[in-house]
Amino acid sequence: MLFIITGPSGCGKSTLAGRVLEELDNIDFSVSYTTRKKRNSEEEGKDYYFVSEGEFKRMIEDMKLVEWAVVHGNYYGTSKRELEKKATKGDILLDIDVQGAHQIKEKLKKTIFIFIMPPLYLELKKRLEKRGEESPESINERLDVAKKEIRHYHHFDYIIINDLLEKAVEELKSIILSTRCRFDPCKKEIMLILRSFSEEV
Ligand code: ADP
Ligand code: 5GP
Repeated sequence: MLFIITGPSGCGKSTLAGRVLEELDNIDFSVSYTTRKKRNSEEEGKDYYFVSEGEFKRMIEDMKLVEWAVVHGNYYGTSKRELEKKATKGDILLDIDVQGAHQIKEKLKKTIFIFIMPPLYLELKKRLEKRGEESPESINERLDVAKKEIRHYHHFDYIIINDLLEKAVEELKSIILSTRCRFDPCKKEIMLILRSFSEEV
């Protein structure tokens, strides 16, 4: 299953994704492509694949992306190959902006969408400032975009208010774990159990 977390920049998507990937088995992160500059804390191939604008535009032309968007002046996109590669290992967690989430909604039906909400506008501002990765101009741009993005919350399957981090982590893990228990006629483990009941002992 593909789990998409979306929401304004600074709402805590990367933090929540990091915790869930550490604490749950059988789930991998879909690494996006971006033309944004690498932050000091980031690793090529782990946080993003960092590419030039030319390389990114070639990927769009070659239809290698499932979705892409210009976010805060940089290109970001999800590659088909990355999703195919990670899907062989179990569930996938994808952190994308609201525009990208809407594109995926149109294309991939079997996807769970989770909107991460900051508890208050001023708290979002504080978190972006505290993260200390952007210039004041970039923070203001992210906050302006956030005012529009926040209104999209009702388009998604779940909403997590990321106030207390531990509570938000538990909520995200619960969504993933409960989705795994949903009825699925093709589930391999169920097939094996059923087969064991029809075998002679
Ligand atoms: P995003 O990936 O959505 O842009 P981040 O995960 O980078 O957001 O979080 C932005 C900042 O807010 C980071 O400095 C992070 O440590 C902090 N943060 C995330 N969740 C919480 C929370 N529940 N309470 C306080 N600070 C948080
Ligand atoms: P940041 O620069 O803070 O890492 O990310 C900025 C925004 O880009 C975040 O809202 C993040 O969710 C979004 N983003 C990251 N990867 C992708 C992607 O592959 N596609 C889209 N549409 N947005 C992405």
